Amino acid sequence: MASYVKSLGQPTYRGKQIADWLYVKGAREVSEMTNLPEVLREQIASDAAITRSRVIKESAAPDGTTKYLLQLSDGETIESVLLPYSDRTSVCVSTQVGCRAGCLFCATAECGLVRNLTAGEIVDQVLTLQEQGGRRVTHVVFMGMGEPLMNMPNVLKAIHLLNDEVGISMRRITISTVGITPAIRKLAELDLQITLALSLHAPNDDLRRQLIPISEKFPLPELMSACKDYADRTKRRITLEYLLIAGVNDAPEQAAQLAGLLRGVMSHVNLIPYNEVPGKPYKRPAREAIAAFRSVLEEAGIEVTQRMERGHSVSAACGQLRRRTGLT
Ligand code: SF4
Repeated sequence: MASYVKSLGQPTYRGKQIADWLYVKGAREVSEMTNLPEVLREQIASDAAITRSRVIKESAAPDGTTKYLLQLSDGETIESVLLPYSDRTSVCVSTQVGCRAGCLFCATAECGLVRNLTAGEIVDQVLTLQEQGGRRVTHVVFMGMGEPLMNMPNVLKAIHLLNDEVGISMRRITISTVGITPAIRKLAELDLQITLALSLHAPNDDLRRQLIPISEKFPLPELMSACKDYADRTKRRITLEYLLIAGVNDAPEQAAQLAGLLRGVMSHVNLIPYNEVPGKPYKRPAREAIAAFRSVLEEAGIEVTQRMERGHSVSAACGQLRRRTGLT
C-alpha cells in the first residue's frame, strides 16, 4: 500500500490509512475511506475493486457456533465457521473452493478442487465473521474447506496480513493439514510460531491411504520425521487430530500402534469422534470405545484431549452446509 500510494505521488502514511480501512475497519467500498482526499479515492476506485464475500446462508447452533455459506465475487461458495467462547472468538476458514485430497469421510472431497482462494478471500472470511458476530476474532484455524498446504503462497500471505494488519498473533493461528510433507518442511524453515495440526486419522499407511487417498504420496515415516523437525525447530507442540470412526480406526490395538508412531514427537493427540455425514457409511464410535482408545494412549504417556462438541446441529463438518444447500 505504501509503495502504491507513493507511485501516485502521495505520502506513504496514506498507505497505512488504506490498510486500516481494509483490514481494521473492514471497508466494503472505497467511498467509505473518508479520511483520504477525494482525488485519491477516485484513483483507487479506478485502479482496483474491494472484493468482499456475501453471506448467503447461515446456520446457528444453540451454543452460538454459526456456520456461514459465503459467496465469492465469481459466484463460487465456501464455508466458514464462527465459534464464540466466553474468553475468545475463533473462526475456522476455508483455503480452497473444494479440495483434491479426497478424504473418504468428508463432504467437501466430493466436488474435487475447483480453485484456490486468494489471500484476500481468506482474510475476508475473518473480517466478515467478525462483522457478523459483532465481536473481535482472536483465533484463526485453517481447517475449513480445502488443504491449506496445497495453497501455500496465498495461505502464507493471508497469515502475514492477519498478523500484521488485522492484529491476530501468530501463536493464535493454526494450520490443519492432512500431511503434505515437503510443505511442512518449508513451513518449519519459516519458523512462524503458528500451530501445526496434522490430521492423522490412522496409525499406519495402509489404513491412511484408504481414508485419505492423497496420503499415498506422503508415507508416514517421512511425514512424522518432518513433524518432529517442525516441533524441534519451532519449539511448538504439534496437534495430532485423530477422527475416531466406529470399526475403522477405533480399536485399542490401533491406539497402541498410534502411540508407537508418536514416540519422540513433541505432540498431543486430539480425538474427534466422527460427526456423521448423510450419505457416508461411517459411524461415530460408542462412548466406551472412545474411552478405551483414549486410555491406551494415556497409559503410553501421551497427552490426549477430546474435541469439545460444538455446532453439531449446524452441519459443522466442512462441506456439509454447501452440499445441503445444493451449491456443490
Ligand atoms: S477433510 Fe479437509 S483435506 Fe480432506 S477432503 Fe475434506 S477439506 Fe480436503
